[in-house]
Amino acid sequence: MKSFLEQNVSPESLITLFSQAPVAMCLLIGDDLIIQNANPQILELWGRDLSVIGKPLFEALPEVKSQGFVEIFDNVYRKGEVFNGNKLSIFLEKFGNFEEHFFDFIYSPVYNDVKKIIGVSVVATEVTNQVISERKLKESEYRFEDLIKNSDYSTAIYRSDELYIELANDLMLKTWGKDASVIGLKLEDALPELEGQPFIGILKDIFKTGETYTATEDRVDLVVDGKLQTYYFNFSYKPLKNANGEVYAIHNMAVDVTDLVIAREEIQKREERFRDLADLMPQFVWTCDKDGKMTYMNENWYRYTGFDKNEDPADGVKRIIKPEVYEQVEVVWEESLKTGNSFEMEYQFLDPDNPNVYRWFLGRAAPAFDENGDIKQWIGTFTDIDDFKQLQTQKDNFLGIASHELKTPLTSLKIYTQFIEKNLVKKDDLKNAEVARKMDGQIDLLTILISDLLDVTKIQNGKIQLNESEFDFDQLTEEIVAEQQMTSRHKIILHPSIIGTVYADRHRISQVMSNLISNAIKYSPDADQVIVSTEVKDNKVTFTVKDFGIGIPSDKHKKVFEQYYRVSGSKEHTFPGLGLGLYISSEIIRRSGGRIYVSSIEEKGSDFCFEIPKSKNVQQNA
Ligand code: ADP
Repeated sequence: MKSFLEQNVSPESLITLFSQAPVAMCLLIGDDLIIQNANPQILELWGRDLSVIGKPLFEALPEVKSQGFVEIFDNVYRKGEVFNGNKLSIFLEKFGNFEEHFFDFIYSPVYNDVKKIIGVSVVATEVTNQVISERKLKESEYRFEDLIKNSDYSTAIYRSDELYIELANDLMLKTWGKDASVIGLKLEDALPELEGQPFIGILKDIFKTGETYTATEDRVDLVVDGKLQTYYFNFSYKPLKNANGEVYAIHNMAVDVTDLVIAREEIQKREERFRDLADLMPQFVWTCDKDGKMTYMNENWYRYTGFDKNEDPADGVKRIIKPEVYEQVEVVWEESLKTGNSFEMEYQFLDPDNPNVYRWFLGRAAPAFDENGDIKQWIGTFTDIDDFKQLQTQKDNFLGIASHELKTPLTSLKIYTQFIEKNLVKKDDLKNAEVARKMDGQIDLLTILISDLLDVTKIQNGKIQLNESEFDFDQLTEEIVAEQQMTSRHKIILHPSIIGTVYADRHRISQVMSNLISNAIKYSPDADQVIVSTEVKDNKVTFTVKDFGIGIPSDKHKKVFEQYYRVSGSKEHTFPGLGLGLYISSEIIRRSGGRIYVSSIEEKGSDFCFEIPKSKNVQQNA
């Protein structure tokens, strides 16, 4: 019985079908697999032309012989087994290039009328492009997986809207406080603590909206090490979409910023505490950055000035500071900013309650440093010292008047005492004459104390005047040493240089010399000598008094020249004084264009020196 095809379809039609079919086909006949028929598609696929027809297959395509096809064809041809090849790789020599191609094949035995195999039919489809793109996809999947595994961020992929954990790198597992066993689980089962937190809902929504979700410093509570703990993350949920634009998974990336958030909260709390404290202070407290830009003023400032909190506080300061001193303050402040040294200055601010009235304030500022020792900011205060200033003025006025009033009777007292002493000497009453002489000495001491008080008030009022003229410095030194020697049991040793004439206020310089020598004697009760020396160099005259007494602690070396600074503690009563001598001396030397200083070691002794220009002209020209 003939088949329907044989009965009804002409061989020409079958050949047409064969040659026009959109798949590659050929017919191989006999033991040598002679290419009987090959349609244009297979010729193109092989990269050959019609000349291969009639040739054995492995002669037409010698390159395939060594690629396992001999056996395959053998199986089909000899045993009648149909061979289905799926995405088989074949290296073909096409147009001179040896290239890998992929094919889906069907090799079937061809039978004759008596069911004997006479050849093999080949139907092939080239799938090279498909294989290459599948390969690329796989590669990119591997790369993606690799990227996630090695990412510096906690990363996970959730598949489908059931949120199966498809991937989670080690960092993410650590973040969750879980191990790799959660991979493959639903997120809500892997992290049951997420219930009641918004994240599962947000993730599921993304499957509907297709929109990326990002969060900054968001709080997440996770069970880590067996207990529920609070963390903060910067994270993103990014939808992964297929070719149709449908979300098939979500890519989750997270960075743990818990330490940062906690540190910032701590700083904020500390700042709040500092502000509360600063706002409660009766002073005006402020801060500014390292470049001097004001960053904060406390409440009290705004209460006092009534200024707007939104304006730059520095503008407010400029508005109420006494205009005459503003520039001066600026200069000192700039210097502090440049050097990093503390700032301290007294100046006046307008009194908001009394127009045109200024009040005295003490402005202070100190730098605050960061961990590298660089200035981080400045912290400053303005303290109202007006009442104190007024009291000080009253006290200075009183001292001025009192010392002036005391001086006149004291001068008379001195004259009377000297008169009595002379009379007693005349009457040969030497015992009482000695008492009168001692009285005279005490009156001298009292006169010095009162003159000191008077000098201080003069300095305070800017009324101390220098009467400068040329005088013999060496002669003055000798005079003062001799004068001091008369009333001292210490040996005053003089090591003079030849100085010659000096242009200065002779009387005031003698006052400084006396003060330094009498101090040296007073503060070295256990020693028996003080050494006075003079020197001249480059128009500079130096006068030094060395003692071997109680000395001065190094942190007090500058302080001794301040008004009213006195030896403290138990020594206060051992060494009487007003704490004015060095203050007056330093003012005199400063006004004379020189400087006064001390080098001293506690319990060893002190060297007090002053230095003044020998002649004014040379100094000015220098
Ligand atoms: P006073 O001697 O009246 O206290 P001064 O102004 O002369 O005032 O000195 C101020 C302080 O400086 C003294 O109280 C003392 O502590 C210290 N001082 C001054 N001279 C010496 C010295 N030669 N040795 C040690 N301390 C001194």
